Amino acid sequence: MDIKNDWLVGDGIRQQKTPNRGGALAARFLIMHFTGGASAQSSADWLCNPAAKASAHLVLARDGSIIQLAPFNVVTWHAGVSQWNGIVGLNQHSIGIEMDNAGGLRQVGDTFQTSFGKLVDKADVVIAAHKYGGPVMPWQAYTAVQIERAFELAELLVAHYGLEDILGHEDIARGRKTDPGPAFPLEALRSRVKGRADDSLPRYRVTASTLNIRAGAGAEFAPVAPPLKKGTELVLLEAGDRWNRVEVVGNTDIEGWVNNQYIELLTVAAPRVLEPKKTEAKRKKSG
Ligand SMILES: [Zn+2]
Repeated sequence: MDIKNDWLVGDGIRQQKTPNRGGALAARFLIMHFTGGASAQSSADWLCNPAAKASAHLVLARDGSIIQLAPFNVVTWHAGVSQWNGIVGLNQHSIGIEMDNAGGLRQVGDTFQTSFGKLVDKADVVIAAHKYGGPVMPWQAYTAVQIERAFELAELLVAHYGLEDILGHEDIARGRKTDPGPAFPLEALRSRVKGRADDSLPRYRVTASTLNIRAGAGAEFAPVAPPLKKGTELVLLEAGDRWNRVEVVGNTDIEGWVNNQYIELLTVAAPRVLEPKKTEAKRKKSG
């Protein structure tokens, strides 16, 4: 995968040009979204409809294929009312990627359903609270190939345009938007692409048969996800006497506090869910 004249080129990439676009863009940020829609194609069609008054640069499908709606040097309309570090109106400063994902789900008896009534397999559900609050609830999982492709895209775009950061719509429209949500490993992506110290942070493993992960440092705080299973790996974010703030290692974005009695330090770094060398090699190959 590569970029030529502000368009992606490579396998599994096609163009569907949207009329929903603004003026010239010199992007500083990459903004990640979920579509909340039924399919990548239906989302792309909607974002090409003038009635939508919305768009994005890319739609990333669950099979890893990509539809590009506009070149990266023009403004698209994905952020809406938004701000970050004193910058207002992020459409004027960012590239937007919409990932095909239904977002928050409804639990109906034993099943999970999207807002449009489609059933989602239990294996494709992440149960967690959003990082900015709200109940522990079900979210549709992203597919492994979709996450891998998102990492690849982010690396390419950050390198090509010298982007400063990768943010979620939830970060720039806090309280109004929840995407990409706890099912997407946004912090791992930022760490990887922006070279943050994630890989060098101490890692722990859960030693209890189950361990609660909570919203604060104490048993009085509510869990932010179902109990962690024995052997679950954690990255230390903040150390405390009795409780540590940790991030769960894997293809999600779940963080919270755990009781230090029930975790042990790992001395050897374990392999990551997403193999960094693979992404690196791909990027080099594509120049
Ligand atoms: Zn969004």
